Amino acid sequence: MINYTERIALLMKDVVARTPRLSFIDLNQVIVFARFGRSDAEGAFATCHCLTLPESEPGYFFWKDRETGQLTRRSPWFVTKSPQVKLGTTTINYLISFVLPRFSDQTMAGSRKADLYLQTDPWIAKLDTIVHELYHIDPTATGIRAIENADGKRSYRSHGPLFYENVAEMVQGYLASNPDPSLYEFLKYDFAGLTDMYGGVLGTTFRNFPSFPQRYMETVDLPASDPCVRVEPLKLPSQPVVYTEKDLHVRQFTGDRSRRLTGAA
Ligand SMILES: [Zn+2]
Repeated sequence: MINYTERIALLMKDVVARTPRLSFIDLNQVIVFARFGRSDAEGAFATCHCLTLPESEPGYFFWKDRETGQLTRRSPWFVTKSPQVKLGTTTINYLISFVLPRFSDQTMAGSRKADLYLQTDPWIAKLDTIVHELYHIDPTATGIRAIENADGKRSYRSHGPLFYENVAEMVQGYLASNPDPSLYEFLKYDFAGLTDMYGGVLGTTFRNFPSFPQRYMETVDLPASDPCVRVEPLKLPSQPVVYTEKDLHVRQFTGDRSRRLTGAA
């Protein structure tokens, strides 16, 4: 069977080595993992998850009476934090997830990327997504690469007008550098093709699949500004706050579900 996330990680190494604008990335601090998502459903193909964002300012939720506007209930103070992910002694800064089978079934036709490429082999759309997610890694190590808005404020939400063009330039630059075709060959197959060819598709996941390391809330002990208001406890999901190599599982992805491989790490 093909380990899809491992193949992507190997390809990323070569892309980073051949792309000056990405050469600052230390892929030892990045984990590539798989999430499940159907090809016929709307949603992302891949996502870059940053683990280095600082703890948030303390905040709380509150409820108000609709008529009087009076505060009726509030939650305890809480902060949001990034979980820690460590492989041995290495702290992981970013996770990049790929959604299977959706990512592998992605094509160029009809996508907004098509306009940016002269050569429109359908599989180039997947290489574009891989470079796109790498480009989200922030060279100043403060989080997700920010763009400047017209008013000079940094914006983390949008990609900025040049983001997609820069990605397409890097993809074309990479392909022009004559990389070993065996590194990207697997991108030429859709999910059914991969399954035929390799007998199955595997991907790295976290033990709490379909969850994965995500920002979490933690209550903090601060005096209430209005002590008379009832405090409603927060229902916090119990997710690990520290992940290690023991939390990585290999799962087999089929077109409509995934299962853990027994005996696999
Ligand atoms: Zn993006």
